[in-house]
Amino acid sequence: MPMHIRRDDTVEVIAGDDKGQRSRVLRVDRDKGRAVVEGVNRVFKHLKRSRKNPQGGRLEIEAPIALSNLQVICTKCDKGVRTGIRTEADGKKHRVCRKCGADLGEL
Ligand SMILES: [Zn+2]
Repeated sequence: MPMHIRRDDTVEVIAGDDKGQRSRVLRVDRDKGRAVVEGVNRVFKHLKRSRKNPQGGRLEIEAPIALSNLQVICTKCDKGVRTGIRTEADGKKHRVCRKCGADLGEL
C-alpha cells in the first residue's frame, strides 16, 4: 500500500490505542515506515539521574507509529481516506482522495 504522508499533514490514526485520534505529523521516517504524530502513541522515557537532572525522572514523548496505521484526512470527506497520486500538467504530483477525488496537496 503506498503511503503518501508528509510532515505537517493532519492524519487520522486508524489502528491501535489512539485509533480515531486526529493530529499533526511531526516527523516521517521513510526507511522505517514510521512517523511521529503529535500527542499520539505517548510513552514515558525514563531519565537517569544526572547533574542537570538530579532527581532523574521521566519524560513523556511520542513514539513513532507505523505509517500503515495513519491516513491523511480529506477535508471534504472529513475523515481519514486512502490517497492516490495524480500528476498535474506541470509535472507536479498531487495526492487525491480516492473517495471523492479532492486534491489533498502536493506530494
Ligand atoms: Zn474525500
